[in-house]
Amino acid sequence: MAVDQSLIDLLICPACHGEIVYKDRRKLIICTQCELQYPVRENIPVMLVEEATPPKKSSRTS
Ligand SMILES: [Zn+2]
Repeated sequence: MAVDQSLIDLLICPACHGEIVYKDRRKLIICTQCELQYPVRENIPVMLVEEATPPKKSSRTS
């Protein structure tokens, strides 16, 4: 059983209130704006900033 897409549509990033996308293969929810990665446990998205993984630091040239 996968995460319900209609649920995904309702979720926003708690850090920046940006849109999120669900990566089914990686069982991750990723914010399209700040790129924080939220875990999915037992098919339940864990939308907590404290649980999120920051994006890999790369020398970003804005
Ligand atoms: Zn975000």
